[in-house]
Formats: sequence, structure tokens, C-alpha cells
Amino acid sequence: MDSGAGEPDVDRSDRSTVSEARFASLMETAADGIVVIDENGIVLAFNKSCEALFGFAAGDVIGRNIKIIMPPRYADDHDGYISHYRETGEKRIIGIGREVSGRHSDGTVFPVELSVGEAMTPIGRQFIGILRDLRPRKQVEQRLSHLQAQIMHMTRLSAMDEMGAAVAHELNQPLTALMLYLQTVMRHARSTGGTGMDPDRLVAILEKARAEAERAGGIIQRMRHMVEKRDPERSHVDLSQIVNEAIDLAAFVAQGSTVAIRRSFPKEPVMVDVDPIQIQQIVMNLLRNAVEVAKDSPGKWVSMAVRQDGDSALVVVEDSGPGISAEQSQTLFRTFSTTKKTGMGLGLAISRSIAQNHGGDLGLDPGGDGRGARFILTLPIGDGLSGNNTTGD
Ligand code: ADP
Repeated sequence: MDSGAGEPDVDRSDRSTVSEARFASLMETAADGIVVIDENGIVLAFNKSCEALFGFAAGDVIGRNIKIIMPPRYADDHDGYISHYRETGEKRIIGIGREVSGRHSDGTVFPVELSVGEAMTPIGRQFIGILRDLRPRKQVEQRLSHLQAQIMHMTRLSAMDEMGAAVAHELNQPLTALMLYLQTVMRHARSTGGTGMDPDRLVAILEKARAEAERAGGIIQRMRHMVEKRDPERSHVDLSQIVNEAIDLAAFVAQGSTVAIRRSFPKEPVMVDVDPIQIQQIVMNLLRNAVEVAKDSPGKWVSMAVRQDGDSALVVVEDSGPGISAEQSQTLFRTFSTTKKTGMGLGLAISRSIAQNHGGDLGLDPGGDGRGARFILTLPIGDGLSGNNTTGD
């Protein structure tokens, strides 16, 4: 009945009443907050959703400066933004949706998505802001990232669990060597009554014993880092170094099989801003998968290379296995995609999501035709500024 403009017998003032009524009903019913201000920042309209969002009645806000719903640190700059736009025409927010902070009447500051449009009206320029509460989305994001961290932790634990026997074997070597060096010193001490051993020889043996103890300690420390539950922490580190350590740790798995692990690192460091443990988790996942297929292949090799390509740091993992079919490569990075009897199909999915969280990616060259799979981890070269710790790990 109120279709307005199309009806010939509705005169001008009726039409404006109709459009005002439409505007009012839009303001009343919109799920998003809508606020209209003039070019001095004075609030002209403040809808129901805004009232709920900010805890102010429209009557308390209309006629006042919009700064009332902004936290002080933004409010102070707001007049400046409007006059900057008036003078230069340069748009900093108009036409662009952006995450900003809002202030509730009780003083709570919370994230809102704001998009601003501009309208020229007979009474001057007006800005229309559409606001959406971002707290529910943030909570979901936080829960997801917490869950993701838990899954990552669990997959690291299970990887370490699988490696248990190999690690015990690895630890046994330095501990046995340490025992032998100490026995040698003890035997000499007994037979000579504590004297007569050449001091240089004694120091050399003790030094070897110390180095073995350090090796054993290093293995335990790296294992502990892997299974520790902790918040991700980025450091400015040499990618070659952390990849090398991850290979050392995962290479125990290859022991006993005859798979040769070839390493290729550039002379210059390849600096990245990453959480070293998470990146090592990716490298270990890729290496374990590669060793598993390579050990049943005629070639029996895995190659691990680090290199820099422009602004990107790359880790390339290749194997002598059968490669991956085009069909399987479609679903490979999805969760629970596995061909193994005891596999979870989480390794590659988690690895890709870690890589993407670091601003990088994990991709696949499927191989085939006698070539094995080639996985390529890409990470941005780091300037040391985006890490929360730039001292290395
Ligand atoms: P899982 O190891 O638990 O199966 P992943 O996500 O690490 O989980 O791997 C998913 C699947 O991808 C594996 O089951 C395997 O079929 C395939 N795959 C991974 N790496 C390789 C590789 N280097 N060569 C051939 N197939 C691979």
C-alpha cells in the first residue's frame, strides 16, 4: 500500500512521509547498528541495535558528538579524521569495512566491524556507519585457535610416542660412550693410585665424556620442546638450522631402515620469523611420510633442502617413493585423508594450516612417472620485526 514513488496520486510531502517511515522502520528492525552523523561528527540518528550494542538510549546520543561511543584513544583523533577527509578527499574508512573499537556506556571497550558510507543531503554531508559486534566471532576464533593448538600438541605427543623406541636407542649411544670414558679414567686412577696419568690424556678423555653427556642432554631437551604445551612464540631464526634439528630428531625413525636422508642447505642463513617448534613439526611430518614410502622403494632416499627464492624461504622435501595420484592429491590436505591403517590423516592438514598461519603455504608436486612426491613449504623471509622475540631460540 505504501509503495510511494510509483503512485501518481501521492504528492511530494506524502512521499517524504512515506520515505521517512521506511527509514524509521529500517532503523528499527536492522540487525546491525546504524548511526548517522553530520560532518561535524554530531549524531543525527542512532538505531535500536546501536542502543543495545552501546547501552545508550538514542535520546542520550543524538545531538552529541559520535566520540561518546569510542574509546578515548580513538575519540581524540576522530575530529581530525573528518576534517582531513573534508580537506583532502582522502578516504581512510569510507567505503571500506574495518575493525575498530567501540565503547559501551559502562566503559567496556569491544571490537566492532564498521563500514561507512557517505551521502550528500539538502542539509549537508552525512556519514552513515553500519556496525556489527565482533565479540561472538572473536570468541569462536579464539576457541578454534585453542582447539587447533590442542590438536597440534596431541599430534606432536603421538609422534614422540611413536618415536619412543628409536629415541631410547639414540640416547643409549652417548650414555654408553660416556660410561666407557669414565671407566677408562677410573681404571687408570685405580692402577696408578690416582697419579701417573698424563694430564693431557685425562683432559682429552674427560672432554669427550662431557661432549657425550651434552649430546644426550640435547636430545632430551629437543624432545621436551616438542612435547611441551605452550603458546606459539615467534623468533627470528635461520630456517636451515631449525630444519636441520628437526631432521636430527626425526631421523631416528629412519634408523634401522636403509633410507638415506640427503640434506642440502645454503651457506648463507635463511632468516624467517616463525615459531620454531611448529615449523619443526611440519618438517618432521613431511620427513616421516617420506621415509615411510621411500623405505619400500628401490631408491630408498629422501632429500631435504632449504633455499631462498626472492622474498620466500623454501623447504623442499622429496622422496624416492611412488608419488601421489592426481586423484589423491585433490584431498590430501583435508583432515582425516589417509591411506595408512593407523594413520589419522591430520599431519598434512595441520602442517598446511601452520604454514598459512605464518603467512606461507604448503604445496605438492605430486610426482609420478617414476618420480616420488615433492612437498614444498614456503615461508616469508623475516625482517625480525614481526616476532615477539628476536633473539633466536
Ligand atoms: P597420515 O600420515 O596420518 O596418513 P598425513 O596427513 O600426514 O596423515 O598424510 C595423508 C596421506 O598422504 C597419507 O596417508 C599418504 O597416503 C599420503 N602421503 C603423504 N606423504 C606422502 C608421500 N611422501 N608419498 C606418498 N603419499 C604420501
